[in-house]
Amino acid sequence: MATKRRFDAFNVKLPKSKKAQQEFSKGAKGILICRRCGISYYKKSWHRYLDLYKHLEKKDTPVRFVTCPACEMIEHKQYEGEIRIHRVPEKYIEDLGGLIRNADRQAQEKDPLDRVIEIKLHGSSLIVTTTENQLAQKIAKKLKHAFKPDDVKISYPHDGGDAVTIDISFGE
Ligand SMILES: [Zn+2]
Repeated sequence: MATKRRFDAFNVKLPKSKKAQQEFSKGAKGILICRRCGISYYKKSWHRYLDLYKHLEKKDTPVRFVTCPACEMIEHKQYEGEIRIHRVPEKYIEDLGGLIRNADRQAQEKDPLDRVIEIKLHGSSLIVTTTENQLAQKIAKKLKHAFKPDDVKISYPHDGGDAVTIDISFGE
């Protein structure tokens, strides 16, 4: 029964931490383009695709090249979500990777700042980091549903920060 309580933790809504994004919106005029990943900022949010023709046909639209908040996090080796999948059965590795990449794509369609940073194989563990804690929780929920792991444990930082760590285990 303890396990069930843990799963309920996925329904907890965490406040979105987008401090960096808010800073960007202050007084940002024209179009900002991330020099690393190419996403662009206009109309107060980040967009994956820039309709250059539409936006640049207006005369004197200033364009600035910047580093977007997601790339900035990645550059500083920061993350908001970490999923550690322990004792991954070899037959699942490919499908796990596929599920994570799909979730990454879907997240970026909605908000290009929400993304999977890295999927690392460490022994028999897969370590996945994300720029956003809710994305990590979403992926863990999907993994739980698709692969029925033996245990899922979610931990929040004691310092009240935004980062979340999720341990998913197969077998004992
Ligand atoms: Zn970027």
